[in-house]
Amino acid sequence: MQDVLGINISDRLNTGVLILDNDFNIIMWNRFLAVHSNKTDVQVIGNSIFSVFPELPQKWFERKISSVIQLKTQSFCGWEQRHHLFELSHSRPITTDSHFMAQNCTFLPVEVAGTVEQICILIEDVTDVCHYQTQLNKALEELALSNRIDGLTQSFNRKHWEECLAKEFSRARRYSHNVALIMLDLDQFKLLNDTFGHQGGDKVLIDTAKVISELLRLGDIFGRYGGEEFAVILPDTNLVGAQEVAERIRHTIAENIIVYQERNITVTVSIGVAVIDEEDTRYEDLISRADIALYKAKSMGRNRVCLAE
Ligand code: GH3
Ligand code: MG
Ligand code: MG
Repeated sequence: MQDVLGINISDRLNTGVLILDNDFNIIMWNRFLAVHSNKTDVQVIGNSIFSVFPELPQKWFERKISSVIQLKTQSFCGWEQRHHLFELSHSRPITTDSHFMAQNCTFLPVEVAGTVEQICILIEDVTDVCHYQTQLNKALEELALSNRIDGLTQSFNRKHWEECLAKEFSRARRYSHNVALIMLDLDQFKLLNDTFGHQGGDKVLIDTAKVISELLRLGDIFGRYGGEEFAVILPDTNLVGAQEVAERIRHTIAENIIVYQERNITVTVSIGVAVIDEEDTRYEDLISRADIALYKAKSMGRNRVCLAE
């Protein structure tokens, strides 16, 4: 490791270098590690790696080293697998989620006359890579979410909701399961907008969506189908079960008082309920029958639940 001028080359590297004997004692380390661990040669050289770095997962580490010795091949542990092995400080002028340096660690066997006598561990600082990759993943997740969510009511948007219905429909067909559909339309919403303004109408949509979603089970799929129309997919539910849910929704919405600019607003819904039928060949058939039932609920005077024929 010494060059012609007697300077330790490994001390010039921007990577950690650590050499262990077969008993896990540290024989050599470089300046990079001294700087980032804030430890001194006296504390480190000749001591067990597990006492110097007590944060190491000992069992895992021993297994790793033993496979390097036995197979005589190098091994790797990247930051995506374990964010870091050694608790080293990083010196990046960026805010990261972790206090410690993200690391890519490579374990190299050092052979003398055919047997592995030492292990060399290279510790690369990948804090930047980890930080930018994490930011990117977060942004991609947010993007995927915003593609599925209706911005006003935070329920699923129509496109995603229909994709869910298509899946549930074919699952129900394949396994002869039930699937029920509830279509809701707020009553006299135009009048409500005219009375309280568009923003008042928006507040009603937001609060009503919240009320509905709180009444549903975990597996139910709730979406905004159109302006003031919502829809719920109820997997494994028959017509009676769906009717009960629909009645609970109708009743709870009618009782709910929405406060907007210190004024109380109440709203009612008309609901159509349908369940998958042997003759349905496409999920759109189910929507059509729920829609017809909804239309019937409107024509019968609103604020009621009607079942599809
Ligand atoms: P009905 O009882 O027959 O359903 O009467 P309605 O007035 O609710 O029916 P209609 O479909 O004629 O009116 C729906 C209204 O919903 C018209 C539209 O301006 C309003 N609307 C649609 N989307 C939004 C929205 O995002 N915010 C607000 N505030 N109003 C909306
Ligand atoms: Mg409507
Ligand atoms: Mg309406």
